[in-house]
Amino acid sequence: MKKVILTGLRPTGNLHLGHYFGACQNYLKMQTEGYDFYLEIADVQALTDNFNNPEKVRKNVYEITKDLLSIGLDPDKVHIFIQSQIKEIAELTVFYSNLVTISRLQRNPTVKTELTQKKDLFGNKGESITYGFLGYPVSQAADITVFDGELVPVGDDQLPLLEQCREIVRKFNSIYGDTLKEPQQVLSNTTRVKGLDGNEKMGKSLGNAIYLIDDEATITKKIMSALTDKNKIKKDDPANPEVCMVYYYHKLVNSQENITKVCSECQKGSRGCVQCKKELIAAMNDFLHPFKEKRKYYDENPDLVKTILTTGTASAQIKATKQIKKIKQAMKIDY
Ligand code: ATP
Ligand code: MG
Repeated sequence: MKKVILTGLRPTGNLHLGHYFGACQNYLKMQTEGYDFYLEIADVQALTDNFNNPEKVRKNVYEITKDLLSIGLDPDKVHIFIQSQIKEIAELTVFYSNLVTISRLQRNPTVKTELTQKKDLFGNKGESITYGFLGYPVSQAADITVFDGELVPVGDDQLPLLEQCREIVRKFNSIYGDTLKEPQQVLSNTTRVKGLDGNEKMGKSLGNAIYLIDDEATITKKIMSALTDKNKIKKDDPANPEVCMVYYYHKLVNSQENITKVCSECQKGSRGCVQCKKELIAAMNDFLHPFKEKRKYYDENPDLVKTILTTGTASAQIKATKQIKKIKQAMKIDY
């Protein structure tokens, strides 16, 4: 039996550098390694904090699929599917909701961080936090286990959610008998990509991201306003590259030779920030160019994208149907 990989992305916006380096590089590697690989476009999870904007979620289901295909994800090797179309996930979420306490969800570090970031949406005192948002880690446990997922490639912001999933699995197995597997994370070399503003996480919902589809004018604007060493006032002041976001992105997309040069010239004060930013803009454009070229093909063939999603969803359905049967038997609700 091939090991199962399950991972997901929320259709809340296009792919950015955080996705690419934090998660997608592992997808690209693992798709060649002979796993049974399910990639979920998590539209139900996206609706937990975008319930009042269904058009945005629907549009981004197609956007994110096109982004994934343009970085080289191969639909012959990976089942790309739409979460809302697999009703067993919703069913399982209801079953699991008995196995987790409200206080445990409130203590989940990922939920806590995201709540702080979403203050405006949910109100400062949090009275308007929805049941659905608080419960999304439960639904994520259903996403993984309904496919019998064993390996989950993710960025490190997701680790508390995986721990929550393992707790649910242990609780389920202890009550209903040994049925579910405990999934393990697979982290990439860059476990978390920082935002343009220096925030610890580049995020779609944080407005601090460089998207793979950004055009050259947008990239120029974003990089020109990226955070640099605030102690460097004049062009020839020596500075600390380790606190500069421009150097940080040079390290992601530039050659080793150029990275070494940028670092030493910055420390010596022989390079100004404007020159450094211009060089990064050029390197970033070179890095993103092949993705944009490939994406044009999918933009011109929207029916192909829909077919890829329909086919992937059909494969996911076969797996979920089998697994829910096993789960319902264990829970003695297999009438
Ligand atoms: P949202 O803000 O809507 O939650 P997001 O940018 O966090 O969007 P997700 O769809 O939630 O994106 O995450 C998809 C995957 O990408 C997850 O595995 C997540 O860990 C990873 N990821 C997202 N942002 C980063 C980042 N800045 N660094 C590393 N990995 C990331
Ligand atoms: Mg997220």
